[in-house]
Amino acid sequence: MKIGVLALQGDFREHLQVVRGLGHEAVAVRLPRHLDGLDGLIIPGGESTAIGKLMVAYDLVAPLRALISDGLPTWGTCAGMILLARSTDNAMLGQPLLAAMDIHVCRNAFGAQRESFITSLDIPVLGPEPFRAVFIRAPVVLEAGPAVEILARLDGDGPIVGVRQGPLVGTAFHPEIAGDTRFHHYFLDIVCAGRATPAASS
Ligand code: GLN
Repeated sequence: MKIGVLALQGDFREHLQVVRGLGHEAVAVRLPRHLDGLDGLIIPGGESTAIGKLMVAYDLVAPLRALISDGLPTWGTCAGMILLARSTDNAMLGQPLLAAMDIHVCRNAFGAQRESFITSLDIPVLGPEPFRAVFIRAPVVLEAGPAVEILARLDGDGPIVGVRQGPLVGTAFHPEIAGDTRFHHYFLDIVCAGRATPAASS
């Protein structure tokens, strides 16, 4: 499969490496033409305000919105999840969002960079083994609409940190640096299922 990784800012290289390591083609997306022929897209972590400004500068906002609303499987990690959200508690003035998922998020929910942490998460869709989750100046999901499946909460019943809405996935943490590829497998399975739909395979 051909997976695009938005490569404007943040830790896109790590996602490219994991996807390639799993045997798929991974392309860095910097311009609208790099979106051609993608089966799935990953929006990495980094700084959502910077990524948003660069998305505007490189004319990526409209094509990304169009592809995502057409059903392109898309996974946002950390800043990427913020960009997929319909709204945030503390957006910078004029911060562009793709507004694709029915989630309301809080940026920097745990405080500054030094409040970053690593913890074990139960993520039932990945199986019984806990997932080593890296949180770096991470957001949380404050509200999730009825179409949103909750994939993970901190400490079992704490804040929501993993969500899915159809072919869209958001994680507040960074599986690309966890040394555990189960989350990438999970997303690639969603991409693969999308390709198998009659419209895509005819
Ligand atoms: N705090 C960052 C933001 O608001 C996200 C941090 C991250 O992606 N690791 O965009």
